[in-house]
Amino acid sequence: SSSASTMAFLETKFQPSRSALSEVIDLDHGDPTMYERYWQQIGDRATVVIPGWKFISYFSDVRSLCWFLEPEFANAVVRMHKLVGNAVTDGRYIVVGTGSTQLFQAVLYAVSPTNASEPVSVVSAAPFYSSYPQITDFLRSGLYKWAGDAREFKSDVPYIELVTSPNNPDGLSRAAVVNQDRGVLVHDLAYYWPQYTSISSPPEDHDIMLFTVSKSTGHAGTRLGWALVKDEETARKMTDFIVLSTIGVSKESQLRAAKILQVISDSHEQRGGFDAGEAFFEHNYHLMAKRWKQLRAAVEKSKLFSLPEFPHGKCEFSGRTFASQPAFAWLKCEGETEDCEGFLRGHKVLTRSGKHFGESTKHVRISMLPRDEVFDQFTERLASITSSSST
Ligand code: PMP
Repeated sequence: SSSASTMAFLETKFQPSRSALSEVIDLDHGDPTMYERYWQQIGDRATVVIPGWKFISYFSDVRSLCWFLEPEFANAVVRMHKLVGNAVTDGRYIVVGTGSTQLFQAVLYAVSPTNASEPVSVVSAAPFYSSYPQITDFLRSGLYKWAGDAREFKSDVPYIELVTSPNNPDGLSRAAVVNQDRGVLVHDLAYYWPQYTSISSPPEDHDIMLFTVSKSTGHAGTRLGWALVKDEETARKMTDFIVLSTIGVSKESQLRAAKILQVISDSHEQRGGFDAGEAFFEHNYHLMAKRWKQLRAAVEKSKLFSLPEFPHGKCEFSGRTFASQPAFAWLKCEGETEDCEGFLRGHKVLTRSGKHFGESTKHVRISMLPRDEVFDQFTERLASITSSSST
């Protein structure tokens, strides 16, 4: 049941050290604790101090369409996009949300037709992010409903297509697949950052683009996301949704995130006491490269699994040509094993089955972003699994 899965979620969330202490290696959630070490090294240069009188007001900037958006956060977002070159910010409205999870719901509300007799269909190409169907349907809205795999969507009614690029769970770059004129596209670009994939030119220029600090900087606990929105009416309705659900977004979180984004930009521009080796995307690009190399070596050794291959792309940000090194590994059990999640659980590795993503149970999604010790334990264990008979 869904309450059982919520409990399971809370349990793993609130006991982060359990997997490190016992033998169980939990890579089910995409908890980005990998980034802790980098931010520890940065130390007080990323510390925020907030005096007691600050942020008493509900309001941030009453002249702005999104009046609870802190200007300092908005400026830091624009600066970082300009540094990386991954998305157009000129002439866009920025809407801030409690994670991109809240923004996703705000988008559904904002773009659903208001006068329709039927809820609008929400689709995404499989394998899709497992939260999309759950979030779309949990309140049984009259405005929208989950309609599954975008590749199977054949009707000519209005629809909303979620395009996640790079994709969660399989890491592939994606474009819209339905391509009919009655659709609204929502681009979830949570992973479109240069530690994971090459940034191509020109910057992404879609009508609605979602981002989050969770996967860009690692600060999932700050619960902060932003949307870049072309259309004023859409941005206004998204803002309305957030006002009705939470009357805005924590200003402490926005200030915290602003600082983190500023430090990232500073680290690349070598301002404010950062040396070249501390550039955020550079450092974490190398960490992801190391992890993928380590994982592929383990898969090779075991011979029971396979991984997707990614095409090489020229990164306009770093100047490097490289293949994607995603935040998740979309691992397939080769041979007779049908239930890959169950098989790995037998070896005390917790993953998420392909069935949650609209795919086969031969696949599992594995987080590539745990702390170093956990990742090392995981690849060691994977390499040692050489027989598909149960243990
Ligand atoms: N979109 C995608 C594709 C994600 O993978 C995630 C996080 N797992 C989110 C959105 C939600 O991110 P947030 O923590 O900002 O709510």
